[in-house]
Amino acid sequence: MVRAIVGANWGDEGKGKITDMCAEHADVVVRFQGGSNAGHTIINKYGKNALHLLPSGIFHKDTINILSNGVALNIEYLLNEIENVKKNISDSGDEAAVNLLISDRAQILMDYHVLKDNYEEERLGDKKFGSTNSGIAPFFADKYAHVGFQLWQVYDDTELKSRVKTLCDRMNIEFEYLYKKPLLNADVIYENLRALGEKIRPYVTDTAKFLRQAIADNKEILLEGQLGALRDVEHGIYPFTTSSSTLAGYAAPGSGIPPYEIKEVLAVAKAYSSAVGRGPFVVELTGSDGDELRKRGGDAGEYGATTGRPRRVGYFDVVATKYGCQTQGATHLALTNLDVLGYLDEIPICVAYELDGKRTEDFPNTALQYRAKPIYEYLPSWKDNIRGISDESKLPGNARRYADFIQEKLGLPIKYISTGPKREEIIVR
Ligand code: GDP
Repeated sequence: MVRAIVGANWGDEGKGKITDMCAEHADVVVRFQGGSNAGHTIINKYGKNALHLLPSGIFHKDTINILSNGVALNIEYLLNEIENVKKNISDSGDEAAVNLLISDRAQILMDYHVLKDNYEEERLGDKKFGSTNSGIAPFFADKYAHVGFQLWQVYDDTELKSRVKTLCDRMNIEFEYLYKKPLLNADVIYENLRALGEKIRPYVTDTAKFLRQAIADNKEILLEGQLGALRDVEHGIYPFTTSSSTLAGYAAPGSGIPPYEIKEVLAVAKAYSSAVGRGPFVVELTGSDGDELRKRGGDAGEYGATTGRPRRVGYFDVVATKYGCQTQGATHLALTNLDVLGYLDEIPICVAYELDGKRTEDFPNTALQYRAKPIYEYLPSWKDNIRGISDESKLPGNARRYADFIQEKLGLPIKYISTGPKREEIIVR
């Protein structure tokens, strides 16, 4: 069966932990979109691991991990991450091997994409997007202008050199006149590309074909999403989105499996809201309430896994999360970080927005979100430490009531309640 695990919100919902947990029983884990511009934190027997590009099944030696065609492949970054994972595994005495396949149609994120991303943010000054500067936007611009490089092209030398030169000639016009930065050297880029291509060659194959066979063989396949629905380039808070699709539906073109094979879509949401970067965030808490939640959130406070930036935080937003679940086509919900909220005396939940004097439960477009104000309901707190509880009957009544309230408001069954960052700190319903 094919299952997708995706974000219902702005990203950082705790997908890494849920995917790592589910990966234990999966035959294949697939990253089908995005790049190294976001990260998962996975805490397992090898310690605390920040993954950016590698699929979350990478620590399970019997799980095959796939980077499919939809991924932005920064090869150097990937090689470093593979080395780090191997080191963490071997440090604990296990055999340092990774079980990885990379699509020969995966598109390569080049050094000049990273440079251009940085230069463009610098040029925009105050108006910058708050990019992670990982090259994602220039990468996708090139991909859809079909001037990018799929991996197979690196192994097919006939036109590679001239294509690199044509691209550099064009890019250098921008580098020289728009950004006033050093020029690219096509020969250096070509040689580097060839060398990097060779380093990952053992992993490269037709992963779409592999996946179709895996489906035919009834394998358990997990599709692992990055970021969340509200960062989707089509349905998110454009232009403060990422440059690709973060939706489960994109797993079909992003990996080559038929859309009808995705039988379960597990949307992950935190028991409160968090967001990194710019853009509207209706429930944002500023001041000491926000500082308190930020400090208590996640594993060690709400700070970005990739960037270290403090995350913006707020209480649970039913309006945004329901929209996120709907655009994901969610069939189930995983609610994470429930253990974080027990310090509050009562727990506000945003159940609707007030927009121009009217109440709405619809998630409006970006401009209207800036004008919307949260309408809260208040639920009784459990005032207790529930970290690590894995048996639902041991959960205080008010904690269960909180989860049930969200379940009812979203109209989705909650399948998992996470009560801590560790794999076993979970309630399966
Ligand atoms: P992802 O990108 O969706 O995987 O999210 P991140 O890993 O960036 O952020 C989630 C953060 O919450 C990480 O620090 C996790 O270790 C942590 N985390 C995940 N689930 C729980 C939970 O149930 N409780 C607590 N306290 N932390 C959690």
